[in-house]
Amino acid sequence: MAAGELEAVFTDILERAKALDPANARQWFDKLTVRHLRGGSLEVGCPDDATYQFLRDNCRGSFTRAAQQITGHLVAVDFKVGADERRVRRSTGPEAELKLHPDYTFENFVVGPSNRLAQASCIAVSQSPGNTYNPLFLYGNSGLGKTHLLHAVCYEAKQRLDGAFIQFSGCEDFVNRFIRGIQEGKLAGFQSQFRKVDMLVIDDVQFLREREQSQEEFFHTFNALYNNGKQIILSADSPPGQIPSLEERLISRFNWGLVARIDPPSYETRIAIVQKKADLRGLAISDEIAEYVARKVHANIRELEGALTAIYAVAMTTGRQITLELAQRALEGQIESAVRHINITDIIEVVTKHFDVRLADLQSKKRSQSITEPRQICMYLARNLTKHSLEEIGGHLGGRDHTTVMHACNKIGQAKSSDPKMHALLAELTKQVTQTP
Ligand code: ADP
Ligand code: MG
Repeated sequence: MAAGELEAVFTDILERAKALDPANARQWFDKLTVRHLRGGSLEVGCPDDATYQFLRDNCRGSFTRAAQQITGHLVAVDFKVGADERRVRRSTGPEAELKLHPDYTFENFVVGPSNRLAQASCIAVSQSPGNTYNPLFLYGNSGLGKTHLLHAVCYEAKQRLDGAFIQFSGCEDFVNRFIRGIQEGKLAGFQSQFRKVDMLVIDDVQFLREREQSQEEFFHTFNALYNNGKQIILSADSPPGQIPSLEERLISRFNWGLVARIDPPSYETRIAIVQKKADLRGLAISDEIAEYVARKVHANIRELEGALTAIYAVAMTTGRQITLELAQRALEGQIESAVRHINITDIIEVVTKHFDVRLADLQSKKRSQSITEPRQICMYLARNLTKHSLEEIGGHLGGRDHTTVMHACNKIGQAKSSDPKMHALLAELTKQVTQTP
């Protein structure tokens, strides 16, 4: 495959993967590179470890399906960061444990009155670990950004303190590893992993409740780190004193540094968060829509994201501009069933009717403009509105091969961006196709 063609196929695969799994679609997919696509194997290059982990953990399935649909072949997908050697070497060091979500950075965190103290203290700690607030304890209800902030601190501290050993764990993970350490007689290994770090970040420490032995272990870990001036950051769903059956000596230690509460975001902050999350997905939404979503969802930011995902899914599958009405219908779950079953014959029917041509002409070898254009539009719409592969689309339109279909899609895609008339025509045809009962 020529380089340009490879790029084009890869772009299509990315678009398809986004449509197949809107919840994990991200704007930064643009930064991925295709290393090769041959012999049933697609290798995708990632800019850094965080994006690599995100893709490996969340996107392998959608990328595989997308690659298979677009190429019409069985494809195995692999993700790689930088040079291969680096990946191998790193995965053997302790840092391999540090799994950070690429979305959870300070840059992507919207600050408002509800979370300002928590965010500011996290920034302070990330800039000078062990020297400002130690421990730093964040608390608040579920879905208000605690985990996001903890990732952001780790990410920032990792950039600043090159080579520092940062341990980030969910509390359950801490407890489970501790128990496994005891069972397997490898407690020393467990202890050195937690007591020798430069920064220890434990999420959801409320899981320590009623775990006496783990609390004891945690107490010693805490002391070892604290006495060596190492930074400790904790989060929980309530303040230290209100975590049920937490030992008094832990409560008092958790209160030694700074305890910062996160409240539910105000309406204005929610609007800003919706806009931020939409940007991350490369989704353009008007203020009106952001306001609508922010009004509709208020308790929990995770739900705001779910709402955006629903809107994104509808926009992707219908190829439509996101209007307020579409957003409303998406959130009310009305559109989904209508868009699922578009097939290529619906498209051909709408296009032949619009251009007043016959299917036989589209399938023929005729190359006059009056036939070529509707044929290419059919291909373009089939590509964007159905899950057919290039081969299958070519098959429906007179047995044309996948490069012809791809060429058609590119050509119409370009015309769509440069010619407002084409843009309007495609929107109209799409509307007709998606509204076909
Ligand atoms: P918690 O750990 O408190 O339950 P999370 O950190 O998992 O909550 O946050 C849930 C979702 O909400 C995440 O996707 C996170 O990025 C998002 N989120 C929460 N607060 C903010 C914020 N202020 N700005 C942007 N995103 C936020
Ligand atoms: Mg959390």
